[in-house]
Amino acid sequence: MTTSAQVPAGTGPAAARLEEARRAYADLLGQGLSLDLTRGKPSARQLDLSADLLRLPGDRHTAADGTDCRNYGAPNGLPELREMFSGFLQVPVEQLIAVGNSSLELMHDCLVHALLGTVPGAPRRWADEDRVAFLCPVPGYDRHFSLCERFGIEMIPVPMTAEGPDMAEVTRLVAADPAIKGIWCVPKYSNPDGTTYSDAVVRALATMPTAAPDFRIFWDNAYAVHHLTDEETEVGDILGACTAAGHPDRAFVFGSTSKITFAGAGVAFFGSSPANVAWLRGHSAKRSIGPDKVNQLRHVLFLRDADGVRAHMRRHRALLRPKFDAVLRVLAEELGDTGLATWSTPKGGYFIVLNVPDGCAAEVVRRAGDAGIALTPAGATHPYGKDPRDSVIRVSPSYPDLAEVEQIVRGVATCVRLVGYEKQVA
Ligand code: PLP
Repeated sequence: MTTSAQVPAGTGPAAARLEEARRAYADLLGQGLSLDLTRGKPSARQLDLSADLLRLPGDRHTAADGTDCRNYGAPNGLPELREMFSGFLQVPVEQLIAVGNSSLELMHDCLVHALLGTVPGAPRRWADEDRVAFLCPVPGYDRHFSLCERFGIEMIPVPMTAEGPDMAEVTRLVAADPAIKGIWCVPKYSNPDGTTYSDAVVRALATMPTAAPDFRIFWDNAYAVHHLTDEETEVGDILGACTAAGHPDRAFVFGSTSKITFAGAGVAFFGSSPANVAWLRGHSAKRSIGPDKVNQLRHVLFLRDADGVRAHMRRHRALLRPKFDAVLRVLAEELGDTGLATWSTPKGGYFIVLNVPDGCAAEVVRRAGDAGIALTPAGATHPYGKDPRDSVIRVSPSYPDLAEVEQIVRGVATCVRLVGYEKQVA
C-alpha cells in the first residue's frame, strides 16, 4: 500500500484546532446532506457503457461452435468467452469454466462442497474436521469474512504489507496448524487497500509447506482488468506457480464481469487444476443443468475479444479516475498537514483505505452518519467486523457523481479532524 507521509500535527494550540474542527462540523451538520459512500458499486454512467448488452444477442442464438444457446448444454460455458478471459485470469482455457452470474456464489459453492464433499487431496470432508480455519489478510473484503462466519470457519487475521499478505506470518501459521484449510486473496488492486501482490508473495504462497494436505488459496481476482493508470499491472500466475511447485490443486481462481459489464448480471469464472475443475463441475451438475449461455453469448458479441475488454475498461477508467483523483486531492488538502491520517493511492480497483488514529474509525463513521454521510461501517474490513485498532475506513468513490464525491470526502475529512483533535485534547 502506498501511503502519504505521516506528518506532525500543525503548530497552533490544540484547543484552537479543535475549536475550528467543531465549527466546521457544525457547518457540516447544517448542510442537511444525504450522501452514500458505502459500497463499491459501478455508477449509472458506468453501467450505461454496456447499454448495448440490453439489445443483444438480438436474434442470434448460436455460439461459434454451433451450440444453440437457448437450450441446455455446454456445461462449462461458451469456449469463446472462456478464451477471452483465459489470459486475464491466467488460467488455461480448458481449465477455466464460465458459470453463473457471481463469483461470490462460486466461492460460496466451493466452501459448501469442501464441507459436504471432499476436495481433491483431502483426508475427509471439512465438515468432519474438529476445526476449520482460514487466513484472512486484513484489511480485506467483508463478504469473504461473512462466508466464513456463515459456515463456522474460524478466521485468523494476518496483516497486509505493501507486497501482499505478511508471508512470514502466513508460512509460519500454515506450516504449524493442519486446521488452516485456506487463505482469502484479492491479488490485484486488493479490496480495500489497492495492493497488488509481488512475485515473491505469489511464489511463497505457491511453494510454502502446509500442514493441511487439502489447503486452498481462494484467489479472488475480481479486479484483474480494472486499471486506473496507463500501467496495466500484472500479478504472478498463481496456478502456474502452484503447479510448478508440485501443488497443482492448491489454487482456486475466481473472477467475473460484474464490474466490467453489469454488476450481478454478468458472467462468473472459475479456474483451477483439472482435478479441482472436475470436482466442482461434478457437484455443480447436481445443482444446475447448465449456465445461462444467452447471457454469455450477449457478452461475447458485446466485448468481442481481449482487446475489446481492454478498450471497454479504458472507458470505465475515464469515469472512475477523476473520482479517485478527487478523493486523493481533497484528502491531501484537508488532512495532509494534520498528521491525523494516511491513505492508499491505488493504481486500480474500486477502493481507497483511509487510516485514522487508533480508536477513531468508528467514531468518524458515526459522526459522518450524523451529518448525513453514510460510510461502510468501521470494522467491516476485518473478520467478525472487529478492527482491533479501530483505525481503518474504506472509501468507495465509484457510485456517487464527481461533485458528490468531493463533498463527501470533505465532510469525512471534517469528521476526522473533529474526532482526531478531540482525542488529542482528551
Ligand atoms: N470479490 C471482490 C474482491 C469484490 O470486491 C466483489 C464485489 O465488490 C466481488 C468479489 C463480487 O463479485 P461478483 O459480483 O462476481 O459476485
